[in-house]
Amino acid sequence: MSHSRTLYIPFDHLHRDYGIIRDAKKSSDVILFVESERMRTGRNWHPERLFFLISSARHFAEDLRDEGFTVEYVKAPTTEKGILQARKRHPKSSLHASRQSSFRLQATLEALGCEFIENDFFLTPREVFEEWASSQKNYLMENFYREQRRRLNILMDNGKPTGGAWNFDKENRLPPPKNYKWPEYKGFSRDEIDLEVAQELAFEASPTWATTRAAALHQLKHFISRHFAHFGPYEDAMVLDSWSLHHSVISPYINNGLLHPQEVVDAAVKAFDMGKIPIESAEGFIRQIIGWREYINGMYWHLGSEYRNENHLKASRPLLPLFNSSQKTEMNCVRSIVSDVEKRAWVHHIPRLMVLSNLALITGTNPQQFLEWMRERFVDASEWVMVPNVIGMGVHADGGQMMSKPYAAGGAYISRMSEYCRGCSYNPKLRVGDDACPFTTLYWDFLDRNKELFAKNHRMFQQINGLKRLSDLPELRERAKEVLAGLDMGEI
Ligand code: SF4
Repeated sequence: MSHSRTLYIPFDHLHRDYGIIRDAKKSSDVILFVESERMRTGRNWHPERLFFLISSARHFAEDLRDEGFTVEYVKAPTTEKGILQARKRHPKSSLHASRQSSFRLQATLEALGCEFIENDFFLTPREVFEEWASSQKNYLMENFYREQRRRLNILMDNGKPTGGAWNFDKENRLPPPKNYKWPEYKGFSRDEIDLEVAQELAFEASPTWATTRAAALHQLKHFISRHFAHFGPYEDAMVLDSWSLHHSVISPYINNGLLHPQEVVDAAVKAFDMGKIPIESAEGFIRQIIGWREYINGMYWHLGSEYRNENHLKASRPLLPLFNSSQKTEMNCVRSIVSDVEKRAWVHHIPRLMVLSNLALITGTNPQQFLEWMRERFVDASEWVMVPNVIGMGVHADGGQMMSKPYAAGGAYISRMSEYCRGCSYNPKLRVGDDACPFTTLYWDFLDRNKELFAKNHRMFQQINGLKRLSDLPELRERAKEVLAGLDMGEI
């Protein structure tokens, strides 16, 4: 049969009702997937991540075949070669796709003469975000979020925010509760496609990640019915006996298309409207979807393809050994979190921001090396997610274009928000001496090293001023040198 269109589906557009597949015709379109060797072996990808992405795509391709579509699932050295290979078989067809989710893939497809439709895997068209961004003095997420609430008419009552406030962070952000029984995370069973992919990748997949639309929907339902009501208060807590707490654990599915943000928001709003969910949980969760997620994607495109190379703090330390092996550190918080990443390719936003990124920031780790690590090790780490999150938010490498101050913190924050410090060889209250918490020492050392740079930042005034009260600054500088040398050797 001769086909008039080839529709290219990247591995993050796996939804039947969105993207280029939405209006596909079985009689005249060929649906193309490319599983590139470069994607599989080009970098040190976490096997859970590769497994999840590949198995989800193969399941989606299989569903389309079952529906009666002509599907080309091509394995090739690169995406470009795979597309060219498939097009040779359908020489008269034109190439079509939704706009891609990264600069690189978009450029690849443009060079191949692809025709594009809007990328509708987000709630905010890129033009709408551009309009907002170009009218701002600074890119405060909170302003964007309020605009989203109004524009999308979500959690609004007659033009006012539902519950009388735009956010309820004061009610949330609680430390871990005492004697709390965290529900178990059930996971998913594996089918033939899963087992085949795992075998090809030569590893045993954990039951953590769903790889089908049905299973992703199941996880969404499970979150809404079992966890959503409790999500808000403990969304920032870090505990030892649960890796998922009351988090939804659906970011991988929204990012690869198995779920669409609109259906996630609809489910959340419906549960809230039925009176089942306290406002602090409803607002906190909805903000992640219509606020943060959309903001980060908008900023990725707004800041441009060179933004990922920013290094305003001139941070040059090579990536610490502990990032690639949880056994290379004595710090209980980092060891537990890196070990969780090793197991499932996921930890929630606070360990990512306030422990891992914070450590990269205060040790002066090269932002690009840290960015690559985050891209490789997390199951939901799309390029558009990680570039602004790491460069702008995590390690402040953009000189404050996104965030007006760096997210630097000492051991006191981790001690308050987690259960890690009790079992640690270090003491979060100490900044000098052999038992001093490396976070506490390096937090002050980071401020000291960068005090000139932050001198004009009024939001840093209090922190920089705090340095003046330190009577032990010379000892602290010496201890910081020891800590950094120990971290470089994987011995702290
Ligand atoms: Fe982490 Fe410091 Fe607490 Fe140890 S004492 S767990 S290093 S914050």
